[in-house]
Amino acid sequence: MAKYSGRGASRARTHGPELGAHERPTHLTQFSDLGLAKPLLKALAEKGYKEPTPIQAQAIPVVLQGKDLLGIAQTGTGKTAAFALPILQRLAENRMPAPRRGFRCLVLSPTRELATQIADNFKAYAVHMGLSVATVYGGVKYGPQMKALAAGVDVLVATPGRLMDHMAEKSASVSGVEIFVLDEADQMLDLGFVVPIRKIASQMSKNRQNLFFSATMPTEIGRLAGELLKDPVQVSVAPQATTVERIDQRVLFIEAQRKRPLLAELFADSSFSRTIVFTRTKRGADRVAKYLNAAGIEAASIHGDKTQGQRERALAAFKAGEMRAMVATDIAARGIDVNDVSHVINYELPNVPEAYVHRIGRTARKGKDGIAISFCADDERNLLKDIQKATRQTIPSFDRRNDKQLAAAAAVADKLVPAEKYVDPRAADPRNNVPSELRRNRGRNRNGGGGNGGGGGGGGRSAGGQSAQGKGPQRQGRGAGQGQKPGGARNDFRGPKRDAAAPEKRWSPIE
Ligand code: AMP
Repeated sequence: MAKYSGRGASRARTHGPELGAHERPTHLTQFSDLGLAKPLLKALAEKGYKEPTPIQAQAIPVVLQGKDLLGIAQTGTGKTAAFALPILQRLAENRMPAPRRGFRCLVLSPTRELATQIADNFKAYAVHMGLSVATVYGGVKYGPQMKALAAGVDVLVATPGRLMDHMAEKSASVSGVEIFVLDEADQMLDLGFVVPIRKIASQMSKNRQNLFFSATMPTEIGRLAGELLKDPVQVSVAPQATTVERIDQRVLFIEAQRKRPLLAELFADSSFSRTIVFTRTKRGADRVAKYLNAAGIEAASIHGDKTQGQRERALAAFKAGEMRAMVATDIAARGIDVNDVSHVINYELPNVPEAYVHRIGRTARKGKDGIAISFCADDERNLLKDIQKATRQTIPSFDRRNDKQLAAAAAVADKLVPAEKYVDPRAADPRNNVPSELRRNRGRNRNGGGGNGGGGGGGGRSAGGQSAQGKGPQRQGRGAGQGQKPGGARNDFRGPKRDAAAPEKRWSPIE
């Protein structure tokens, strides 16, 4: 399969010597070879980590030397430990009390979920070191955060918006930061955090170590890295290509109004055991989750309008396998670390191709295979074109339009609950009217003020079909569909684990 080489990746700046994955020193295969101290090695053994991942093998020695680092890696590569382990060691080697209302290490994260995850990682690795870790993010009360900051902490993990609030209130000061980490920098850009980041950085002492991590390197992030990093060593792993290659991808063409019965049909297959369904909008996520529950499929939505408690509970239930589906917007799902995600379903295609790569990367983690299925309504064809161009692949597609069974299921649902007015995504989201090339650029150039972590995907309304409740489709058979794959023998979507011995039988999860 073709490689994903997003615009950003190919335009990555090289600020210093680069260690490509293939140049990784092969003799550094144990954590003990990387120069990590005993308390850390003990914690790693307790966590069951046997050997460093490529990003860890490359980054840990560089960070231990006190150098600045530009890491091109996405969640799932082990990048958190790649910076957390050497940071903890450096802090422990030069122990000193943290400044009042201050912190010796600041990690900025785009979302609350990722901030919590990073802090949990720090705490787990620091368990034998006696270093303190705190978090600061929006959506929760200020009081406990102020209290946690008052005496100073060794490591603070924060979202930019809430940290700025604390700085304005003088309940936090960044002047004593010795090590500054910017995680998921490209996502920070998408969320409009670049201006707050510049403001925060301007108040830090210049004499600090800087670590930058980003899955892609759009121009604006390259510029920011150029401003904030001093002579950085660049390390990169190429998960985008490998992730995309490992994932079994399919596109299903479907009428927008029939997406819901099609979704229910997929879930009739029990192998859809831990599935993330992506929508473009928060409202869309709520509606899809409601529909799934009505159809008897346990699901919850997760997005920026949910309270922290709701998000945490939904995530915990999903992780524990109590829920088969989590319906998420791009932003909410970013950085979420859930193992063994069986499927990713793009209920609506994202407005920018990078989001497609991030979405499908929720499955196929830690070297496992994964399955990604994208619904594509007629008005989403341009988005699909963009995705295929950016990922340099033609995704096998199957035409499920004009399917009488799905139409019937949609009509039944429609009778039960009157359909919501269908909103064409092009009308709902002005970016969809922009020619595709321009649209991609515009998507990357958003760079406004500083909201808080979290928040929904595109600004438009959902392209979802009816508001349907109560019934999943009851199917016995299926009408013929039109194959889209040039020269392909199959002309329908047969799902990932098909019975090769019966190629003439149409695939259906409930058959
Ligand atoms: P991250 O990319 O930091 O989000 O990490 C992805 C997942 O890999 C997390 O669940 C980590 O706990 C786990 N992990 C990180 N490093 C290792 C390692 N060396 N061996 C096994 N698991 C790891």
